[in-house]
Amino acid sequence: MREISDGVYQLEVPMRYNPLGYTYSYLLRDAATLIDTGVGTREALESLSRQLRRAGIELSEIRHLVVTHLHGDHIGLMEQIRRISGAKIVAHRRAVEIQRERLEDGGRIFEETKNELRLLGGGSYMNFLSGFGDRVRRKRSVFEIDETVEDGDLLSLEGEEIRVHLTPGHAQEHICLHDEKRHILFSGDHVLPKITPHISLHDPWGGDPLREYLQALDKIHGLPVKTVYPAHEHSFDDLDGRISELKIHHKMRCEEMKEAMRGGAGTVYEISSKVSWDSRPWPRMDFWTKRMAAAECLAHLVFMRNNGEIHEESRKGVLHYSL
Ligand SMILES: [Zn+2]
Repeated sequence: MREISDGVYQLEVPMRYNPLGYTYSYLLRDAATLIDTGVGTREALESLSRQLRRAGIELSEIRHLVVTHLHGDHIGLMEQIRRISGAKIVAHRRAVEIQRERLEDGGRIFEETKNELRLLGGGSYMNFLSGFGDRVRRKRSVFEIDETVEDGDLLSLEGEEIRVHLTPGHAQEHICLHDEKRHILFSGDHVLPKITPHISLHDPWGGDPLREYLQALDKIHGLPVKTVYPAHEHSFDDLDGRISELKIHHKMRCEEMKEAMRGGAGTVYEISSKVSWDSRPWPRMDFWTKRMAAAECLAHLVFMRNNGEIHEESRKGVLHYSL
């Protein structure tokens, strides 16, 4: 825990089974507001509670919980803290829609995953997947959102004011929060100093998240920000410089995928197997990691397809991409 500005604290919430190690939760003490909570474990709750006390506030005194996006390492303790404190949960309007969809389609996830594998050329894993049967479900928690915000809103929190920027890409509902008075940006997972956020797509007609992501980078470029406080890794000062690096990264990834298509058309799984991955080489990835890698590859392919840079065609129900 450290005080990063007058009355603003960075709390390190441990996340044992994730290589990132922790999620930062941010406390605006005078507004009794927490931005993100970390994972939903007892260890995380105890740690958060201890750190809050050291910052001069009890968990039960929290009045507002702001969600940057609906991933487990950010919202894990939302419901529990609300129960303890009666705090109001604030998120972008899209978060409400996404939670509703999750409630409705939870049971269809197995069929959808099978279709996705077929379409993207991962059919060889079908037997493996079938072994999981009904256990393949969305396990994310769904909770009531008390107050929604829109892009550009100035969120008023008992004396503190925070500007909301909708920044989709890593998650459709992702928001960055700009403390304009202190020149601080709480960037969630949208901009991290070292790693590039996972941009994924499971359905080739389900939107263009990479385009949205790049546009959302442009959107926060040039904001008067002295320091960026992300949800992982560490704080940094050069927001615009990091945005340029991220844009170059995705451009290079697109080039690498085009290179992989030089020998002819390929399925998403074939192209994924030919490009480099930070985690480990393709042959050593387990199925679930391969599926994440393929989803990241598809996000880039759909971006290029929509630009008219590459072609997409269906051969016997399997999509092939070519130059
Ligand atoms: Zn995260």
